[in-house]
Amino acid sequence: MGSSWRWQLSRAMRLTLRWCRPCRPQRGGGNKGQLSELWSYSGLLLKSLYHNSLSNSDTLLDCVFEPVYWIVDNVTRWFGVVFVCLVVLLTTSVVVVVYLYILPTIISTYPVHWVVWHLCCGHWLLVMVVFHYYRATTTSPGHPPKDKIHIPSVSICKKCITPKPPRTHHCSICNMCVLKMDHHCPWLNNCVGHFNHRYFFSFCLYMTLGCFYCSVSSKDLFLEAYGSVESYYQTPSPAFTFRETTAHKSVIYLWVLTSSVTLALGGLTLWHAILISRGETSVERHINRKEIRRLEEKGKVFRNPYHHGCVSNWKLLLGVEKRSHWVTRVLLPSSHLPHGDGIVWDCTFTRRDPMAI
Ligand SMILES: [Zn+2]
Ligand SMILES: [Zn+2]
Repeated sequence: MGSSWRWQLSRAMRLTLRWCRPCRPQRGGGNKGQLSELWSYSGLLLKSLYHNSLSNSDTLLDCVFEPVYWIVDNVTRWFGVVFVCLVVLLTTSVVVVVYLYILPTIISTYPVHWVVWHLCCGHWLLVMVVFHYYRATTTSPGHPPKDKIHIPSVSICKKCITPKPPRTHHCSICNMCVLKMDHHCPWLNNCVGHFNHRYFFSFCLYMTLGCFYCSVSSKDLFLEAYGSVESYYQTPSPAFTFRETTAHKSVIYLWVLTSSVTLALGGLTLWHAILISRGETSVERHINRKEIRRLEEKGKVFRNPYHHGCVSNWKLLLGVEKRSHWVTRVLLPSSHLPHGDGIVWDCTFTRRDPMAI
């Protein structure tokens, strides 16, 4: 055995030395034959760099696009900070406009019970948005333990070289495995996973409700301001003070921004609500669709092992264990931990087919 590898090594060195020697011109087709041999040898050398029993066209494509992935991942990571600053700035600007122009109008024109309702509702939504955004960005989504080897796992992560528990996926932007990974959110500059999924969904929900509230509350003022801005271009133009023109433009900005966010974020929230009702994450949605098609071809029906029924899925996500929790844990800010550790999962049945990962 020992002499065998030495012989292989000396043969490889001899071959290399032969190729390194300057080529002597040969008669007939010698040069052509040597060139084609050199070509096939180079091909073999190139293949030896990346080929193994698991190599396929996907692996090759992955290698070719690796620099592109690297650039996208780094740009997303960097843009994450910009996006978080943007969310904070836009939210602050909306709150400032509401305090400066909307609330004073409500207080001066509405009856007392409506004023109290607006004050309570507006501030409750603001507290919920700020709390859930802060928690969603600062809470780690959860990662598989690196020191424990004997954990229930479905595969080994090729990048982290650690066991991957069920529902865990590798995030190329965070460059680590994430428990029950949903997606990497650039608006949070964080991955959405087991420990911050509830914060992420609650933030989306309360932000949509908050924007809807601002949009509806400022509708009359917006129509008034829009009419005033149109009259700027009449001759003679009406005499508005600087404070009045600023108020008009601020109210228009507020209404356009909050209405757009209500539509865009409302759609996203609805999509995530559908996924939660089905007991799926965004990543699992893609995997399960493939599984449905694969099993359909075999005449079988796919069943999601993490679907416990619509209401139970919501209770598991929101951490509702008794009725009062709907108020204390859903309608009020709460830092309770999610059900389970994100490593061991209760399945509704035992799968016989190997799980797609
Ligand atoms: Zn990983
Ligand atoms: Zn991530």
